[in-house]
Amino acid sequence: MKYCSTRDKKLNFDFKEIFQRSLAPDGGLFVPKKIKKFSSNELKKMKRLNYIDLATEVVSSFCVPTFNKQQLKALIKKSYKKFKKKNVVSLIKLDKINLLELYHGPTLAFKDIAMQCIGNMYEEFNINNEDITNIVVATSGDTGAAAISALSKRKKINLFVLHPHNKISKVQKKIMTTIGGSNIYNIAIKGSFDDCQKIVKQMFADNIFRQKINMSGVNSINWARIIFQIVYYFYSFLKLNKKKLNYAVPTGNFGDIYAGYMAKKMGLPIEKLIVATNENDILQRVINRGIYKPTKVKTSISPSMDIQISSNFERLLFYVLNSKDTEVKKLMNNLETKGSFKLTSHQRNIIQKDFSAFKVTNVETKKIIKRIYSKYNFFIDPHTATGFYAAKKTTSNYPCVVVGTAHPYKFIETMKSVTGKQIKKPSQLTELMSGKEKYDILNNSTNVVKKYILEKQYEN
Ligand SMILES: *Cc1c(COP(=O)(O)O)cnc(C)c1O
Repeated sequence: MKYCSTRDKKLNFDFKEIFQRSLAPDGGLFVPKKIKKFSSNELKKMKRLNYIDLATEVVSSFCVPTFNKQQLKALIKKSYKKFKKKNVVSLIKLDKINLLELYHGPTLAFKDIAMQCIGNMYEEFNINNEDITNIVVATSGDTGAAAISALSKRKKINLFVLHPHNKISKVQKKIMTTIGGSNIYNIAIKGSFDDCQKIVKQMFADNIFRQKINMSGVNSINWARIIFQIVYYFYSFLKLNKKKLNYAVPTGNFGDIYAGYMAKKMGLPIEKLIVATNENDILQRVINRGIYKPTKVKTSISPSMDIQISSNFERLLFYVLNSKDTEVKKLMNNLETKGSFKLTSHQRNIIQKDFSAFKVTNVETKKIIKRIYSKYNFFIDPHTATGFYAAKKTTSNYPCVVVGTAHPYKFIETMKSVTGKQIKKPSQLTELMSGKEKYDILNNSTNVVKKYILEKQYEN
């Protein structure tokens, strides 16, 4: 499989290159030049597969020739050893809603599903590598922990995790800052997640710096994140055995739901992908009104979605604009210079064929958590709750799957204040959480972070 940039179709990279680079040299995102489509017959046959075999089928076309199927299967199998469910994810039914639980990995959020595989991919790539790879990642709370769990103590790898200081939950912070080995550097930035992401993007765009530190990235702008997330759409769809399904997805950086869009492009009969945002509703605004305009980030009870610059949306634009790279570039330039861009009603219509979108306020989120708890004696976390709300607002002839993105324990304080109940600590965490929190607080400045990384990279 060859890949190009959303801003330049002429580029030609293979999987290994886009994996290590993460962001395209022109600041665009990598997208595959072709997408494998499964026929309904092939889908039928895939119903028999367990999660690992299914993942191998779904992901393999994106990774050849870097990995062949056999290598890939071994890698995936190894990656899901630490998950509490035999088939990685699980499905339960609440009312008419199917909840797809994606949070049974080592750090209790869906991000483990891609990140554990990515950790093993780095290991494969680094075997013959002389240089240390410095991985830099921005996190709104869950990516950091998942990346640390996947990359801690790996040879020839340093991981620098930027999180917004005092803007993530206590459990998120505790997991993130206590589980890492000496190759992990937690940095609390005095700013928002968007500030953290901007610093990371600026470092990637600085070719000299990027090469100097042999920089790589594991944010959802890394295509490898997307491909492993496509799998659970296939798995849940084939398990539920319905003609068509809607998926409601709590969304921030548009990564998880974009994986659903890919699944649809690969032949899965998904009716609508339903975007659920919190009060940081840029995606709701662009899908319903066509204006993409980041505003100031609001702190919410679903902090992993407190994002105003939704990077993966650029990947959707590429398809909506019919792969016209110059058009994508123009819109992204408008964003840079004017602070916004506008879609035509035609473009908006194309998006609305596949997507609908709802904004869910803190008050509405709490109501849903409370209702599900009192009706089913079941806890859903504040992110997953936004998905429930959006599913409830949707009228459709087809059933809906809500994508459960995090374990409620990660947001224990909110859960307690809403339901009055204390959630039991999941077994994954029994050993964690006891260590001393380890992190440095830095100013919101790309230069300050660069200097920090240059100083620390050879410490190990
Ligand atoms: C990261 C995250 C999201 C948002 O996912 P995107 O891929 O950024 O849209 C939603 N919920 C939780 C719990 C998360 O950690």
